[in-house]
Amino acid sequence: MSIERTWHPKFIEYMKFIVNHPNYKGLAINFTDDSYNWVTTKKSETGKLRLKWAKEKAKQLGIKEEPGYLRKVMYAVHPTKMKVCQICGKTLSLNYIYLNRSLISAIEKEFGCEFTELNSIYDVAHLLKEKGYSDNEINKFFIKAFKLNNKSTDDTKIIVNNCIEKCIEGSSKYLGPGAMSNFPDRFDGFHSYNRCCRSKEDTGRSKENLRTYNKDRRAYEYWSDGNLYAANKFMHSSFFSGTSADHVGPLSLGFIHDPRQLRKLNKKDNSAKRDRLLYKDIKELQNIEDINNICVINWYSDLIWEFIKKNIDKTSDLEKFRKMLKINLQYYMELLWNIINICGRKGEMFLIKNFLAPKYSDFKYEYTFNELGQITSKTPRRETDDSRKEFDRFVRISFVSVAEFHEKENRKTNIHFSKNEEEKIQYICKLIDNDSDNKIIVNMIKEFVVSIEKNLIENKE
Ligand SMILES: [Zn+2]
Repeated sequence: MSIERTWHPKFIEYMKFIVNHPNYKGLAINFTDDSYNWVTTKKSETGKLRLKWAKEKAKQLGIKEEPGYLRKVMYAVHPTKMKVCQICGKTLSLNYIYLNRSLISAIEKEFGCEFTELNSIYDVAHLLKEKGYSDNEINKFFIKAFKLNNKSTDDTKIIVNNCIEKCIEGSSKYLGPGAMSNFPDRFDGFHSYNRCCRSKEDTGRSKENLRTYNKDRRAYEYWSDGNLYAANKFMHSSFFSGTSADHVGPLSLGFIHDPRQLRKLNKKDNSAKRDRLLYKDIKELQNIEDINNICVINWYSDLIWEFIKKNIDKTSDLEKFRKMLKINLQYYMELLWNIINICGRKGEMFLIKNFLAPKYSDFKYEYTFNELGQITSKTPRRETDDSRKEFDRFVRISFVSVAEFHEKENRKTNIHFSKNEEEKIQYICKLIDNDSDNKIIVNMIKEFVVSIEKNLIENKE
């Protein structure tokens, strides 16, 4: 499977346009294996060369070398000020024109209109005018919200520009750009994921929690073992209508997303269950393993799972077991994030080839099930453009979900690798970067995961 398929085709087009644009003449990039090393790190040779180039550009453009100057340089150089999202292909402006959550609620309070974080301040001015608000009313709102010195009789265009200026300076956080700055890590100096595909900054609201809870689920689900396509089909089949499909072993504790561990549960019970692990669930999971001859947990948690099964009795400390599984999964996600972040595109290619592509074969069939979630028949799906696109989308979201998980979960739990572990990760990444034998690298990752599990079991964490 080629990597080109995981990056949105419009982004690949954008990348080629930027790399070949005269504004970027002399900025370091290599062309290997049919692709550019768009992504790099500060410490790499390419990264150092890029920084040198930007310093020189800053001088030419008369931009002072102060905090934030790299964004200014890369913004000034950018030929269109419009960037394509690597994940979904959406084009957004690099200007600070998009509404942040707090401004959206302020507008909703004042005017009763709902906007999204992909609407711009121009959209607001335009729509409010259409709704019949006078220039004076609109201007007054902006002046107050952004604490401007303008008069409400000024031209709305000027006022809107002043709002944007304030946000670029950093003296207001009401507006944000379509993509955050990220130089020298990205060739064009902007984050690969646009605003449309990044998880949002503020949390805490109930609506927000619900949304991110669902997004977290994607990370568990997409990197899970099991027949994912069949699990989704079974979950949404008529068998569960009027009830809710429940994973006996919660995905958030590292259990697999598979039809054979799905059971009916009434809706109230399911929301109460979340990621609890009950004695009877463990017994049922053992039963599922016995009748199907499968392992119900992901490969990276199986040592801990074996430990739990050996040590479980009615008086066991289930909360301790639950925490071990939870923390282990967080370490695993963090490991994936590190590989992607350190190795960039090569890391993604490695993970696709060894961890995601093997799942594709399950996407090639339609299934029917019995009430135990066992597959009773499977028929080949005709491989169409749609089914291939569906898998590409799966791959793309898999990567987005890792980044989201890192941003949200890591802030909450503060998972940190020890110095020794970090060195091991660096070594794994070096092998990936050198195109070493994939089997050897996969084995090293497995050994690494085992050592994390052992630490958790021995409570040395
Ligand atoms: Zn996007």
